Amino acid sequence: MKPSTKAIFKRHGLRLDRALHNWVYFVFYTPYVKAAYKAINLVERHFTGLPFVGAFAGAVFERYHSKVLSFEDAKKILFLNKDLVLGHDSAKRIIPYKYANKLVIKNPSLIAVMDCPCKKASKAPCEPVGSCIAVGENFAPLWLEHCAHNNVRQITSDEALAIIKAMRASGHIQQAFLKVGTGGVTGVICNCCPKCCASLAATRVAKKIDPALSMNAHSGYSIKAAPDLCQQCGNCQEACPFDAMRITKDGRFYNKEQCMGCGLCVDACTQKALSLYADPTKLMPLDIDMAKTALGKN
Ligand code: SF4
Ligand code: SF4
Repeated sequence: MKPSTKAIFKRHGLRLDRALHNWVYFVFYTPYVKAAYKAINLVERHFTGLPFVGAFAGAVFERYHSKVLSFEDAKKILFLNKDLVLGHDSAKRIIPYKYANKLVIKNPSLIAVMDCPCKKASKAPCEPVGSCIAVGENFAPLWLEHCAHNNVRQITSDEALAIIKAMRASGHIQQAFLKVGTGGVTGVICNCCPKCCASLAATRVAKKIDPALSMNAHSGYSIKAAPDLCQQCGNCQEACPFDAMRITKDGRFYNKEQCMGCGLCVDACTQKALSLYADPTKLMPLDIDMAKTALGKN
């Protein structure tokens, strides 16, 4: 048994089912996500009207979900210089789900990247497919030892940041994923394109059942605009994956309720008319410094 497999079984203790789930999930990442995609499509085609489907989706999302990250928050995770061991987000200020809400990243300089299973599961994947990043020893060693078939490789923090910059420039948002089956902690940062991402597809379908359902937690940021700088160029509308920016004959319109706080519009605005602010009416951002104050070792 490889050391990373042993570590997984040690981490899950008596929950052999979770250890096995953890191993299968990452080692068979693409078929796993392909199966999830098939389930999402099946639900969308046949089952959105059934009464129990919303409750089922809600129960799944409590156990497997993501937190949208701003560029700066993702960068802080990549450049952690010591272990991050924070408790449960029991008040659900950052991660509004019942399970899988610990911020624990040990040995954060150990970083790996491999092919994104959502992209590989897609018929016409966005390039490049090497865009899933594991930070720390909870995930990276398993990937490095078992996932050569997914083109895994170890990278530095600077290389990971360069990947994220390139991904943002081609319309990808960053999400930290948390899953009961992989230990309930974060450490996987995906570069998610709205076309391929299974989690965004799951949310899109779930919202047809109940608009309150979402697998993706808001980043915690909203957009502040400086109207006098805006040239009505439309770059922000084009960049927004959530249709939250619109240029109309009456000017630029921002739909705060649609906005997930990813910041792609800010990147796209050459006039510097847009900026992110931590919005007290939303969740708290997964900003490591804010999280340390909010969570501590509860
Ligand atoms: S990208 Fe900037 S300048 Fe262009 S419409 Fe949007 S806010 Fe205005
Ligand atoms: S408005 Fe800007 S921050 Fe909000 S979802 Fe769209 S691109 Fe992201």
